Amino acid sequence: MMHTEFRNTKVICFDLGNTLIEFGPRQIANQYKGLTSKLTEMFGSCDSAKLKAIRDRQIVAPYHDGYRENDVEECCRELIEEIYTVKATVAQVEELAEERYNIFVEIIELSDVILPLLTDLAKSYKLGLLSNFPCSRSIRDGVERLGMTQFFDAIVVSGEVGWVKPDPRPYQVLLDQLQGDPSECVYVGDNWLADVQGSKGMGMKSILTTEHLPYEKFDHNPGDFEPDKIIGRISELRALFL
Ligand SMILES: [Mg+2]
Repeated sequence: MMHTEFRNTKVICFDLGNTLIEFGPRQIANQYKGLTSKLTEMFGSCDSAKLKAIRDRQIVAPYHDGYRENDVEECCRELIEEIYTVKATVAQVEELAEERYNIFVEIIELSDVILPLLTDLAKSYKLGLLSNFPCSRSIRDGVERLGMTQFFDAIVVSGEVGWVKPDPRPYQVLLDQLQGDPSECVYVGDNWLADVQGSKGMGMKSILTTEHLPYEKFDHNPGDFEPDKIIGRISELRALFL
């Protein structure tokens, strides 16, 4: 039975990392390990603590730069040049970026509940996906490999838009593609700033999921929007929408 507070919902939009797939400390650690191996192969022994410090800084950089999304190749260039104090060639930057893509597509996994949930929701709602990630190809190919592409009426990646959630621009691209009225859209995500503040700012309803441990933490600020609902498991959407 439909939950009354979400009665007029026509569109359900999802964040990807830590919402539909786990992308927390364990996955980030695996990504850093993969980058360390690749850099070791390319340039010799890699200072993994330095790599971690640079990557940790890069991950949150868009939130301190007017929500401008990172450029993947620029991030790869920074890694090479700061760790090895060399000038990176275009080919080296591209080789590292390609490895970064491969690592992402390989490490992401889907829990058993997601495909059945999306199957059932897609029967009654338009579904959208909006992910903050600089490499659009990683998200699109990763989502395809996990068998989820077919469920989404629109997929938008911040790397294609140039700005990250909570900036209104990626949300607007998603809403335009879905031809959705924000008041009839619910956004489901794990990130207080990007997902809750972003979607509420657009006039959407917001559901915060706390199922997975996030890697980056954002402070709550006075005057912040509150989510319309907090869920501890993504499968709780069944009781709310089906
Ligand atoms: Mg997320």
